[in-house]
Amino acid sequence: MARYALDVREKEVLEELRCGSTPRDVAKQRGIALATARVIVTTVRMKFGARSTSHLLELLANGKQTTEIPVSHPEPDPLQRAELDKEAAARFQELLGPEREGVPCRRPGCKHGAIVHSVMCRNHHVEMLSGKAPAKDSDA
Ligand SMILES: [Zn+2]
Repeated sequence: MARYALDVREKEVLEELRCGSTPRDVAKQRGIALATARVIVTTVRMKFGARSTSHLLELLANGKQTTEIPVSHPEPDPLQRAELDKEAAARFQELLGPEREGVPCRRPGCKHGAIVHSVMCRNHHVEMLSGKAPAKDSDA
């Protein structure tokens, strides 16, 4: 049943479709653009493997109960997530503070200065914290 996982909004829209609403009705009722309503309906349809909205309603009529559909929490799309990651990384770098002049990073070959709270530069300190294998030593 997990393949039917819908988020809260999708499930509500599905319920409205079951009650005979068209995407236009859905848009009006929810105060959203028709295009947006269509996207939600299409997403729901794809999750059910339905070819059309009427096919979807047919599947529902044949015993696929919406109450059996697990509700999933909407996840940020990949682009949005990349933005969030970038933001978090930038904030973290800021938190680490500046690299010191005259206190070289302990990583051989690195020309950066070590940050205040570490014997390594920002990049290598983060790398050490994250437990990632060093990509390369000469990223100066
Ligand atoms: Zn370094």
